[in-house]
Amino acid sequence: MSFQSIRIAVLLCALVLTAGVNYWEQWAATHWTRPLDVVIYPIGADHDRAARDYVEGLTQGRFQEIADFLEQQSERYSMKKIAAVSIRLGPEIAALPPDPPAGAKSALTSILWSLKLRYYAFRATPFLQGFGKIRLFVVYHEGGDGKPLQHSLGLRQGMFGIVHAFAQPEQDAQNNVVIAHELLHTLGATDKYDASGLPVYPEGFGVPEDGPRYPQARAEIMAGRVAVSPTVAAIPRDLGACVIGSKTAYEINW
Ligand SMILES: [Zn+2]
Repeated sequence: MSFQSIRIAVLLCALVLTAGVNYWEQWAATHWTRPLDVVIYPIGADHDRAARDYVEGLTQGRFQEIADFLEQQSERYSMKKIAAVSIRLGPEIAALPPDPPAGAKSALTSILWSLKLRYYAFRATPFLQGFGKIRLFVVYHEGGDGKPLQHSLGLRQGMFGIVHAFAQPEQDAQNNVVIAHELLHTLGATDKYDASGLPVYPEGFGVPEDGPRYPQARAEIMAGRVAVSPTVAAIPRDLGACVIGSKTAYEINW
């Protein structure tokens, strides 16, 4: 066997192994027979004193309502009760995630960016620390300058997400809505809003079955907004104003 073919064989083995690990992690998580282990890694985006204090003062309890939301919503669907959801606060991470590619998106730039993100997650948390867990890297921004945050994302492959959030206590409840949304992406849930950001009927509506279609009282978490009228959708104030709809429930194997 030449050196070249050994190299290719090793590379192929590594690829098969990674695919196998990913498959097992995903299978185990969406089987719901063992506790879902979610770790939040905070990252301070700004050096502003208030933003730094906010990140340093974060406690696990701030995220507990996400676990409560999942457990409580699962009761509407599952014949089997899901195992507990554990949300823990991991250590702060210094390195910021890579920026999304500028300019037009092609298939190649998307693949390269996804590889970059996976490499970032791999570097930020050692393999054994992340194995079998959902890792959410939450980047806290000072905000207040009126600029919109970068898009958050959750990846099923590798089960991790990058969430952009505001470093302000009054934003905690809405930050948790975004974190829950990306967490569900890592479990296989898809977005339920259209190109203009409006919830898609019926799967993106809080309660599509009975009563008038508009205005809805609650948001479907993967639509991310409450359908108020055919042209208006509102950001839910907290997870109490959100539900997990039947399509999302199906996608995450409830
Ligand atoms: Zn999404």
